[in-house]
This record gives sequence, structure tokens and C-alpha cells, in this order.
Amino acid sequence: MTKINENLTFETLMKKIKTYITDQEKLELITQAYDLANNKHYGQFRRSGESYITHPLNVAYILTEINADYETLCAALLHDVVEDCNVTLEEIQEQFGDNIKILVDGVTKINKLSFGAEKEAELANQRKILVGLADDVRVIIVKLADRLHNMRTLWAIPEPRQKAKAKETLDILVPIAHRLGMYKIKSELEDLSLRYYKPEVYFGIVERLNKTKQERDKIVKEMLTSVSQLLDENNIKHEIKGRAKSIYSIYNKMDKGKSFNDIYDLNALRIFVNTIPECYQVLGIIHSKYTPKPNRFKDYIAMPKSNMYQSLHTTIFGNNGYLFEIQIRTYKMDEIAENGIASHWSYKEGNKKTMQDIMEKKLFFFKSIMELQEENDQEFVESVKQDVFENTIYVFTPNGNVIELPNGATPLDFAYKVHTDVGNTTVGALVNDNIVPLTYQLKTNDIVKINTSKNSSPNRQWLNIVKTHQAKNKIKNYFNKIEKNEFIKKGEEALIRELKRKKIKENEFLNETNIEKILTAYKLKNIEELYTNIGSNKIVVGSIINLITKEEKTKEEIVLDKIQNKSLEKENAKTDVIVEGIDNIKINISACCNPIPGDNIMGYITKGSGISIHIDTCPNIRNAEERLIDVHWNKTTTKRYPVNLLVTTNNTKNILVDIIAKTTNNNITVTSINVLNENTRYKLTILVENKEILTKLINDLNSIPDTIKIERLMQ
Ligand code: MN
Repeated sequence: MTKINENLTFETLMKKIKTYITDQEKLELITQAYDLANNKHYGQFRRSGESYITHPLNVAYILTEINADYETLCAALLHDVVEDCNVTLEEIQEQFGDNIKILVDGVTKINKLSFGAEKEAELANQRKILVGLADDVRVIIVKLADRLHNMRTLWAIPEPRQKAKAKETLDILVPIAHRLGMYKIKSELEDLSLRYYKPEVYFGIVERLNKTKQERDKIVKEMLTSVSQLLDENNIKHEIKGRAKSIYSIYNKMDKGKSFNDIYDLNALRIFVNTIPECYQVLGIIHSKYTPKPNRFKDYIAMPKSNMYQSLHTTIFGNNGYLFEIQIRTYKMDEIAENGIASHWSYKEGNKKTMQDIMEKKLFFFKSIMELQEENDQEFVESVKQDVFENTIYVFTPNGNVIELPNGATPLDFAYKVHTDVGNTTVGALVNDNIVPLTYQLKTNDIVKINTSKNSSPNRQWLNIVKTHQAKNKIKNYFNKIEKNEFIKKGEEALIRELKRKKIKENEFLNETNIEKILTAYKLKNIEELYTNIGSNKIVVGSIINLITKEEKTKEEIVLDKIQNKSLEKENAKTDVIVEGIDNIKINISACCNPIPGDNIMGYITKGSGISIHIDTCPNIRNAEERLIDVHWNKTTTKRYPVNLLVTTNNTKNILVDIIAKTTNNNITVTSINVLNENTRYKLTILVENKEILTKLINDLNSIPDTIKIERLMQ
């Protein structure tokens, strides 16, 4: 069972590698890794008396049996050079790149830890640390292979250390191998550990197995022939293998109180077929001939184990009443059953990191960790869960590219991730061919299409919608740029206006000396910055002019400046609606009827929260005359107000793009869209400056073919 291969050479290893890695560059790198390891370990020997290099060679060889990729193989060859040969991680990185360095670093770190504890909780914690230290699951896989080779050669070390190593393997590494689904390695580790940890038990079982071997072999062979014939009669292509129970699994059952003779599934068959339907067919055929033992049937195909193991299990009364455990699986299931997380190496196309690949890896890894932690550390489970699942989703572009986004990301985050221009001109989104609002939360596997319009621009509301910093920053940048340009323009105009009023010639005032003086006085970098500050009312125009025209201000002028500043502030603080005779009162534009400038409005005096503004026909104020007061719109307001519209069409064809185009033409922002009644009704919320613009939009929307009516919703 144990394959000790101390005479393994690099040539033999390479021959094995070449059966599945053909890329010359990768093979070259593996050779370099061997050369470095061979050089550095030169003159070092193992306890077994062999040159040290046989160890990394064997670790790599174990990994070739699960088709490990070239980076893992390089790391396996190099895994002891940092700790034992003073090679630095920088040197490894330089020669082999980041990934291999990370793997070697991970294995080195793990190998520095010493494990061992009595309490299960502490052991679980140590497994957690080991798993947590590995940034990449391949680190753990190399570690398992490393330990497997050390266990195969454990005879060479003194007995107390043998026992300690064996126990550590059973306590720490076997559960990890189990959770990763790597049964083949797990099973060998278990048997080797038992051999050193409890030799008398181990050899006791071996002896009894040997005694009964001849008889069991005969029974199994007969049964195998019968079942195979049965399947042939039913035209099912298959393979059957007799299966030896591992010594450790027998020990486990005996440890749970069963006697050797009671272990009824000592006889076991494994049947391989090509497809899942065939698995169930085989099960049916077998059950129709052999009586199944009650409560022993398990369907791990429909309900895979958390480490992704799949098979059908049943125990039947076979020929002459001998009990047989039968496992039925496809070849692909077998690969997963044997190698678990490592099985994806066998199915990966080339080296392309497909989405499924990434997901599968993460999924496997997460599930393994979660199970490891099951009873112990809920918090840790949560944080891993967050890292793996809650933090990241994968969605597709219409032509199949994968975009990675944080969970909670919206179509806008997607659009900005694709390209800033796409984000800035987004007008709508389709997810899996359905229209969604821009606030929609994307899910893994969504196919996202962004509708853009050249003339469209971002909306400030978006800052509250997007999840990613990237999108947020891009939107902010957009507005900062626009604002800055506006302020510059406004500032320049304000200065020129004031100069004109004071009859000062512009080109005389703005000579180099004066500009220098102003910039120094206000600690500004350039004239644009000066205009920005004027435009945003941070600097008052009068004070700039005073700075040049009069060196020193009189007290009166200082007072005047102050008054001027104050009036400027007041002008800015104008409210949307003016309540005759009352200043400084809190005004709320009501959200029930959503009035906009141009609507006839009334003020409703609320209890304690100012005046709320309604359209005069709003049903909510109908019977409240004693609380109503006259108000009117402030003509200078340039704010935009929300309005809800209901668009009804008699066509199920998607007219959303038309709707968006019309709003864009009118420079109106759509803040949300809901599709009602199978695409025939759309509810939109828009931001609009006044009734005139709204009326024009409604007319435009009416001109879309198949539109029946446009309603402004009051409630
Ligand atoms: Mn090692």
C-alpha cells in the first residue's frame, strides 16, 4: 500500500509531469526549480540516509498523481529551501514569480508551527490557524503531500517522535484532507498514522484481514462477476472494482464498539458508469435482484456531501447472503471522490481561470472551512463566509466576460467598472433581458446590459445608489469637473460685472502685478482658482477690487464688506416657496402630490414641522382649510423636483429606451423605473424643474408609438 520511492529521479518525475503538462516554458521552470533545490540541498541527508533531494522529488511526485499545476509542482520542489538552505523569498520571487513565492512562503510558515493538543477545541483552533495561514489552497495541498511523504518514511525517526507525528497527522491534517475531499491522500495518511500511533491495533487488523483474505477475495470475485453479468444483460457500459476497506476505517468501526466479524460491509464493490441516469438505473437493477439492507441506502448524488462527494451507496444481501456495500458513481464523480478540491486540475481547460474555476475553488474551500469550524467558532465562519461569498459576486457582460463586483453592487457599479464613459452615459439596465431599476442589486450569474445615451449625464442621486468606491469617485469627479467649470465661469462673470459697475477697465485691473498681489493675498495658485472661489461665493468680488484700488480699508468699508457678505449669504439661502410675511420658516415640499414650480400650491401648517407645500387640489388637504395659508413659488428657484409618472402602452415590446431618450432630450433625470403589468405599464420618478418642462415631456412621451396615456401620479 505505501509506495516508498526513495530512488525516484528527476527524469522519472519529469516523465510523469509530461503526461499532462506540455507547455515548454512551464517545464523549463519546473526544471529550474529542481536545479535550485538540488544545488541548495546538496550534501544534506534525510534520517533514512537518502540525499535530501529525494524528499522534494517525492512530494512533487505525489502531486503529479492529482495532476497538480506547474506552480504547485515548483513550490513542492522548493518547499524546504527557504527553511533549510537560507534561500530568501526574494530570490524565489525573482526567479519564479509571485505565485510560486506565495506558495513557498505559505508552506514555510506552516512548517514552522508545531501542533498538538488534547482538547478537540484546541485542535480545531490549530486547524483553523493552518488553514488561515494559507492564502492559497494549494499551500495546504503541498503541505498534505509533504506530510504524506514524511509519513511514508516515518520508520526512520525515533519512536516517541513517530507517535507524536502520527497523532498530529490524525488530529490536524487528516481532517483537513477530509474537508477538502482528498480521500486518497487522507486514507493513506490515516493508515500510516495508525500504524505508528497504535501499532498493535494496526497489525491486529492486518493479521485478521490476511487470515480471511482468501475467502473474501473469492466471495468478492464471484459477486463482481454476477453483478457485471447482470449489467451486461441490461446493456449498461460499466466497470466494477472490488474495494478493500482501509485499515483505519475498520479500526474506526471497531473503536465504535463493533467486533471485527460484525463489520458487514467489509465486502465492497464500486461500480463506474458514464452518466448520472445510468447510476440510478444500475441501482434499480441491483435492487431488483438483491435485497437491500433497510436504511442503508444513501443518495449522495442528489445531496452531495459538503466536500462535493457524490455517489449512490447501498448495502445488499449478495450471493450466499454475504453483505456487500455497493457504491455507484460516474467517472467524474470518482475523480472528485478521490481528489476532492484537487480534482479541478483534471478538468481545467488550459490555464484559463474561468469563472466556474474560481467559484468552485472558493466554494470548496469555504465549505471545507465551515465544516471544520462547525461547532467551534461561529465568528470565524462568518468572516470567511463574508470573504468568500458576501463580498464578491460574478456577473457577465452580454458577450460573456466576467466582471467581479462586491456584493450589493448595482448596474451602475457594473457600468463604471466596464468603462467611465459607459457609466457616465448610462440611461438604463437590462439584467437577464429584463428591465431593472438602476438600484437593482446584482447577483452572481446575472447577465447585465447597460443602455447608454450619448447625451445623458450622471445624476447626483447615483452617489447614494452605487456600492463601489470606484463608481462613487468617478461620479464625484464628473460633478467636481462640471462644478469647477461652472464656478470659474460664474466667478469670472461676477468680477467683470463688478469692474464695469465701478467703471474700472478690465485689462488694466487684471495686469500681472495685480493678479500676483491678489493670489498672494488669498493664498491661491492661479486665476482659475480665484474665479472658482468667487463663483462659489467664498471670496467677495468687492474685497478683491478693494485690495487693488485701496491699500487700506476704512472702518466703514470693513462694515460694508460684512453687510455685503451677509446679503450674499441670504440670497443663497432662499427657499423654494415664499410664505408671505413669514421669514425663516421650515418648508417641506410634500411627497404625496409632489408639486413643482408652475403648479398652484397651498401651504399646510403642520404641527411642529413647518409648512408643507401641496398642490391645491391634493386630496390630503381637502378638509383642512383652517390650516391652509397662501404661498407662491420663489421665481428664482432652479432646483429640480420629483414627479411620478405612469406610462401605459398597448405593446409588450420594450419601449423603455424610447422613454429614456425622451427624458434625456428634455434634460430630465429619471431616478427610478418600475415595470408593471408585463411591460405594458411603466412607473417612473423623474426630477424636473417646472411644469412647462413637464408638459413638454408628457407631450413627447405621448408621441411614442403605442403609448395610450401618460398620467402624473398624485399619490
Ligand atoms: Mn518537507
